[in-house]
Amino acid sequence: MEQLGFTVIMPPPTSKRTISLGVAHSPEFACLPIKICIGNLIEAHELGADTFLMAGGVGPCRFGLYAQLEKEILEDAGLGYKALIIEPPGQGPWQFLKQIKKIGTSVSWMQLVRGFHFSYQKICIIDELEKLVQQIRPRERIKGTADKIFTYALKTFDQAKNYHELCDAYGLARQKLLHIPQWEYTKVLKIGVVGEIYTLLEPFASMDIERKLGALGAEVTRSIYLSDWVREHLLGGLLPGISHNMYHKLASPFLNHFVGGHGIESVGASVNFAKAGYDGIVHIAPFTCMPEIVAHTVLPRASKHCNIPVMTIYVDEQTGQAGLNTRLEAFLDLLRDKKNFLDRDITMC
Ligand code: SF4
Repeated sequence: MEQLGFTVIMPPPTSKRTISLGVAHSPEFACLPIKICIGNLIEAHELGADTFLMAGGVGPCRFGLYAQLEKEILEDAGLGYKALIIEPPGQGPWQFLKQIKKIGTSVSWMQLVRGFHFSYQKICIIDELEKLVQQIRPRERIKGTADKIFTYALKTFDQAKNYHELCDAYGLARQKLLHIPQWEYTKVLKIGVVGEIYTLLEPFASMDIERKLGALGAEVTRSIYLSDWVREHLLGGLLPGISHNMYHKLASPFLNHFVGGHGIESVGASVNFAKAGYDGIVHIAPFTCMPEIVAHTVLPRASKHCNIPVMTIYVDEQTGQAGLNTRLEAFLDLLRDKKNFLDRDITMC
């Protein structure tokens, strides 16, 4: 958006205050993502934002209504926000770019394509770096080193003004990560994380489950990264990568119709992780999330069929850290026991 000439006001990172503000203004039964978004928008308004850009949606999940709902809630709260809603394109990248162009009328097509390309490159680079961090976390000798480097790298990506600066910042961060001293494990547990996309992508919403798993000695892979979503939904699947068609096919023996959100993808990705030899699946869902509740009812059958343990965790503003930590520790202990029984060369040194 900055490349298109807009002034972008980023709300502060999501915090307890964000959630409190969101909870105070949202319907009680609403799922966690909208509560966080409302809180983010209130905090952005405090910093001077007057317009918000939100994606629309289709299907039997509440997301399609959220942009409208947010606008009305914020109006009721006395915050004069203008809402710009980008409906799902469904017809490839041009449809999406046309919608963006309507917002910035004085923007040329060339500026638009350049801006989009730059943002897409940024997203891909962040995802690549985060995948490396997920590999290093369970192996690093000093816990938290990879995360510190990653957090600093995000700041340098933010400051990059063009593709070359971005690549330089990426190269530097990657080198730093590769030089982190690591323990020589013969094997670490491999965990696939599946679930509702917002909760997977926003660490605060998932209560940092990925980091916790990494610190407990598990290498984590997420079923969907932001670049996958952009490729699939905004670029119409034109570029190679994970496609939801593949997940739908894998899920079909257990769930063969659209249930909204990423319900089918959660089931398909779990089957995919099982086929790839992962040791367990953590399924994350916001409390009251209908698509993931459907996936939750189906996952035990997929788990039994594919012989892979699955643990579902629901999160909302009431979820406590201590209970979550205990559940994750217990799950990993059980997986280690199972693995030791099957494969005695697993040791940690
Ligand atoms: S997928 Fe679930 S959590 Fe996400 S918006 Fe829909 S109902 Fe809410």
